Amino acid sequence: MNVYDGELMASAFRRAGYVHSAEPGEADVVLINTCAVREHAEEKVFSHLGELRKHKNRNPDMLIGITGCMAERMGREIARRAPYVDLIAGARSFGDILDLAAAAREGTGAVVSIGHDRPPPERDVSVRTDPFRSFIAVSRGCDHHCTFCIVPATRGREAGRPMTEIVTEVEALVADGVVEVTLLGQNIDSYGKDRPEGEDLHHLLHACHAVEGLKRLRFVTSHPEDMEEVIFDDMANLPKLCGALHIPPQSGSSRVLKRMARGYTREKYLDIVREFRRRCPDGEVAADFIVGFPGETEEDFEQSVSLVHEVGFQQSFVFRYSPRPGTPSEKHFPDDVPLPVKAARNMRLLKAQEAVSRAKHEAMVGRSFEVLVEGPSKKDPDVLTGRTRGNYLIHFAGPADLHGQLVDVTVTDFSPVSLRGELAG
Ligand code: SAM
Repeated sequence: MNVYDGELMASAFRRAGYVHSAEPGEADVVLINTCAVREHAEEKVFSHLGELRKHKNRNPDMLIGITGCMAERMGREIARRAPYVDLIAGARSFGDILDLAAAAREGTGAVVSIGHDRPPPERDVSVRTDPFRSFIAVSRGCDHHCTFCIVPATRGREAGRPMTEIVTEVEALVADGVVEVTLLGQNIDSYGKDRPEGEDLHHLLHACHAVEGLKRLRFVTSHPEDMEEVIFDDMANLPKLCGALHIPPQSGSSRVLKRMARGYTREKYLDIVREFRRRCPDGEVAADFIVGFPGETEEDFEQSVSLVHEVGFQQSFVFRYSPRPGTPSEKHFPDDVPLPVKAARNMRLLKAQEAVSRAKHEAMVGRSFEVLVEGPSKKDPDVLTGRTRGNYLIHFAGPADLHGQLVDVTVTDFSPVSLRGELAG
């Protein structure tokens, strides 16, 4: 979502005549678009700001802005900690970003815009971080009240975009060379609940799927409480729609899930996964987990470990619980799992996922998969990297001009994090 929002803000600046600079030291405006989900993410912004300050000392006209959820959460406090910041624009102020930047140029002291609900700036689809793949926000905000989560406070109530607007954006992207689109929502399954009848995720997937020239379609993130089985059928039946479901359990313990106010139990989560696999047998499931949630016992944690094995996730993202100011868990539950315990649980859960990934990767050796070529590998420019429909990362030798194309790759080897292969036939 932050990549997409960054592109929206860059679109506004592009329209006003700005060009992108690869060197922060040369830029007139540097915006850091931020996340507030964990304290660690916010601390990283302050250390990044320390670096930018050196550039600003050399170029006092440089305008430094903090945008997004951390700006929304902290507001003026950011300027108190980093007085050289000129602009603080929350996650619902992107629509005003040019005016805010102009005001910041003129004024003395930081311009702060938080607590608003402005429509985001219009997108220039040519402003992208990737030539062939793109995100599209289909809804913003979240109406769930998971006790750990800051998102409802920073991004507000859930609001869906008109379906026609989204499809038009897909068409424009495809006309500009995009082959894979990922639809984004904090809680994508409930897309349409504030829209007229007939605008829901099922219809949206069909409408996007019908866009000629689009090769792949994905969506994130699913909340188990809102998942509808018709979507599993869509994932099995729509050829461009990838069968990769990112459906964070957060914990494998029903007791912890209740304290998180997630609205489901471990058993219900397993039922959802079972139904998904029944309807979409080739589908893959990916997870987010929080470890060290207040009151999480060793026994609770072991249930997260066993869930990783029982489901056999394609991938698990593991986060140490971080109390976010003002959230229900921060207000009502003491952060009572010591940091070293959180760190050890984090490692153990990742190890469990590593074992699962190793076994899944091993079972793929010798089989061929459709892969979208994402470009040269980060480590070796002579090797291409891509992803299967199930979201497995694969490296293989091939000509650079395959970038952006769908190719068949046979898996020859693996590590716990990725696959290696060769172009098939
Ligand atoms: N909207 C999605 C959902 O509810 O599943 C994802 C939101 S969040 C940006 C991504 C992940 O961050 C969550 O799935 C959760 O695992 C993690 N997260 C959220 N709040 C957290 C907190 N207070 N401490 C640690 N991890 C957190």
